[in-house]
Amino acid sequence: MKISFDLDETLFVNPAEVPAEPDLKFPYNKIYKDKLRKGAVELLTEINKSGWELWIYTTSNRSEGYIRRLFRHYGISIDSVVNAPRHEAEVVRGRADFPSKCPAAYHIDLHVDDEKSVYENGIANGFRVYRITNDDTDWVENIRKELERIKRNKGDCALKS
Ligand SMILES: [Mg+2]
Repeated sequence: MKISFDLDETLFVNPAEVPAEPDLKFPYNKIYKDKLRKGAVELLTEINKSGWELWIYTTSNRSEGYIRRLFRHYGISIDSVVNAPRHEAEVVRGRADFPSKCPAAYHIDLHVDDEKSVYENGIANGFRVYRITNDDTDWVENIRKELERIKRNKGDCALKS
């Protein structure tokens, strides 16, 4: 099973507006300026250990290497990265008026994003989105419960052979 996270305003936050994880130690704090939302290290570490695949799905142009290395400094391993160039090449493929993200194309079970339009596209196109906000202090627990629900549902609804 796969979970994906958006970066900007989802895992990466403005610490003036949203509680953030402590900075990386010098000199890494000078190289990786993005600040992680408080609770991200705990939740993503748990996801790494749980057997779920951990994906990043961003409309930004940050490179796969930058994203992987940043999370590696927090001890987190990213299974796959979909950034703007990959989404363009593999999902959009030149089509006009295409949704900004399409987690279903990668069989992602749950996508986490701050954008209302992504949430609405999920309802319209049949993929599941957890919409996160700046004041969502229970997000770690909410996503944990959502993952449990998806896992239980998959087991209960599986065809018996
Ligand atoms: Mg975002």
